[in-house]
Amino acid sequence: MERSKKVIFTSHCILNQNAVVAPLARAKGPYRDIVDIIFENGIGIHQLPCPEFRHLGLKRKPMTKDQYDTEEYRKLCKEISKDTVNIMKEYINNGYQIVGLIGINSSPTCSILGKKGILMEELLALCKEENIELELIDVPTDYQDGEKGKEFIAKLKVFLNSL
Ligand code: SF4
Repeated sequence: MERSKKVIFTSHCILNQNAVVAPLARAKGPYRDIVDIIFENGIGIHQLPCPEFRHLGLKRKPMTKDQYDTEEYRKLCKEISKDTVNIMKEYINNGYQIVGLIGINSSPTCSILGKKGILMEELLALCKEENIELELIDVPTDYQDGEKGKEFIAKLKVFLNSL
């Protein structure tokens, strides 16, 4: 079968809400409506690792960006970013299209728009160094599948077809 040669990069918890800080999960598993719309467009998903999970595990408490911003955590986010950029380059060098990057708004680690999270700061800085230009979008803070998330899904639909 001919592949679409289109890949989108996403924050880990879009596909796995089990990884988020205990009280903040907004779905049982994946954000199904988001995944569905990506699937419908024949786009592959590259799921980034969850740095907070790797750093402090499942029992971590909600923390601010300042609290996360330690040398050790920056190092982890830099390593994930380096690995991610290498994967992006492999796709690009082989004629694949990176449709964009989806983050999580207001996350101390994965927010892209507004105040950037630590992973996205590192990743986007590295992308800039490597001349990788990405379309960017965040899942809004109040997103939920179903009625509440309809507006975002409409926006995402446009985003996925904007290249
Ligand atoms: S660090 Fe990122 S991927 Fe992990 S739970 Fe927070 S927003 Fe999701």
